[in-house]
Amino acid sequence: MNNIFDLIIIGGGSTGAGIARDMAMRGAKVLLLERNYLASGATGACQALVHSGCRYVTQDIETAKECFKENMIIRKIAKSCVEETGGLFVTVKGDDESYVDLFLEANEKAKIPVTLINKDEGLKIEPNLSNNIEKVVKVPDAAIDPFKLVIENIKAALELGAKIYTHTEVLDLIVEKGKVCGVVAFDKRQKEKKSLRARLVINASGAWGSKIAKMAGYDLPLSYSKGSILITNSRLTNVVVNRLRPPSDGDIIVPSETVTLLGTTSVTVKQLDNLQITYTEVETIINEIAKMVPAVRNARFLRAYTGVRPLFKEKKATDDRNISRGFRIFDHKNGMISIIGGKMITYRLMAEKVSDLACKILGIKQECKTHVLPLPSTLKGMKLKAKHRLSSLSDKNKSILCECELITKDEVEEVLSKTKTKDLNDIRIETRMGMGTCQGTFCAHHALGLMAKMDIVNEKNGNKSLIDFLERRWRGILPVIDGDQIKEEQLTEGIYAEIFNLDKERIE
Ligand SMILES: Cc1cc2nc3c(=O)[nH]c(=O)nc-3n(C[C@H](O)[C@H](O)[C@H](O)COP(=O)(O)OP(=O)(O)OC[C@H]3O[C@@H](n4cnc5c(N)ncnc54)[C@H](O)[C@@H]3O)c2cc1C
Repeated sequence: MNNIFDLIIIGGGSTGAGIARDMAMRGAKVLLLERNYLASGATGACQALVHSGCRYVTQDIETAKECFKENMIIRKIAKSCVEETGGLFVTVKGDDESYVDLFLEANEKAKIPVTLINKDEGLKIEPNLSNNIEKVVKVPDAAIDPFKLVIENIKAALELGAKIYTHTEVLDLIVEKGKVCGVVAFDKRQKEKKSLRARLVINASGAWGSKIAKMAGYDLPLSYSKGSILITNSRLTNVVVNRLRPPSDGDIIVPSETVTLLGTTSVTVKQLDNLQITYTEVETIINEIAKMVPAVRNARFLRAYTGVRPLFKEKKATDDRNISRGFRIFDHKNGMISIIGGKMITYRLMAEKVSDLACKILGIKQECKTHVLPLPSTLKGMKLKAKHRLSSLSDKNKSILCECELITKDEVEEVLSKTKTKDLNDIRIETRMGMGTCQGTFCAHHALGLMAKMDIVNEKNGNKSLIDFLERRWRGILPVIDGDQIKEEQLTEGIYAEIFNLDKERIE
């Protein structure tokens, strides 16, 4: 395949997906390559917080302002991905009270609308808060479904003619006379190498950005900060709750659809693959969160996950928490642009800035419209909330495939006929199948059955999809397994190892 595209985007996280949509809207011929499934990097591993900017306001006012501005835009253009929970910042007994004044002053400077309220009001807004809280500040935080955000951007790009190849890894860049002219990529499904040519290549590969830049001889010095997050099986709070102190571990609680995301940590790591979540991280998060919401001590944890923040190495920064969460764009002036850092919540702005530069290079005159034009399902008036899925089940003929997340067989079938994917994770991120309490125990084999019925998998390769999916789920369950969860896992093991005999297959 030797197509010439206007641009090739490397990376299918929020940044790459945002650029694909923006550039397709401006009339460019776009190809996006993602080595795994969409949002399989930091985007799918984030805490799903629509930052108000307050978390960064005392240290990095520009990033804080950027977050707030994009927060307001995202609520409009991505209504179908956002739950407008609101947020609170709270101090607990023993916290440094002088930070509260600093925080309020900095927010005023950044023009982020926050209100100091009394403790009783705070407890009324969030009854699960500890009695030990002291100061409470109301902030415009919200929650978002990062998978949906990416899928929606990709859908919009596809509708405008963009090509999206997932499970396709860029192995090298094609460089001719010092200019990047395309990429050599490996299609993991077809098991074949492809040379794909474009007038411009955009490196939006997140933490893997320096590896891609190196292929063209550039040095992008990155620091990698690992962050881990725990998921409970229900909502512990109905608003986002943050600890009112300089950013530290175990500071944030985000209610996300039917579950709660608790995080995070910041551990400098040297490598990006096979990241482990340590028991120390799990304990730290639970202990710190319990100071704000003691109910976490009785919570049942579904799983933990971890991701890496790529931070551009600043000479003056002494530790990773001090490195700006802002983004950097590098025009390598040879047919390639790299974009590094930022937040998921600023993805649209990041895409706009990169696209402006790309259009200048490519001679495209169209202006950015992503700040005013809503994403496809927002245009259709759809909303984010599990209860809306209930109403779609009023038709008795619809059978449910994933009971925890109320996902119908029709929805899974639709993804399968569209993508022909053999990877259960592609279905998971499009529908939320397998993300609920049973973590795929009762739905993964049904989905595999559908794949077999639709001739997508057969007896030779079907079990591999199932094992990959279950192993990925298990890696997340292991760090938090305790109490009733152990019994649940024994049941899962019984079903898959005994009835389906999967462990035997692995030994063979
Ligand atoms: C623990 C944690 C919590 C966070 N919480 C929040 C939050 O609550 N709110 C918020 O706004 N931000 C949050 N962030 C930050 C946010 O997740 C990231 O800034 C954002 O998602 C980055 O998106 P990206 O597309 O740039 O990178 P990624 O999502 O990492 O995407 C890069 C993609 O490139 C692909 N890729 C890499 N190499 C290749 C290759 N050779 N060929 C093809 N594809 C390749 C990867 O597979 C990956 O999917 C958090 C980050 C972490 C780590």
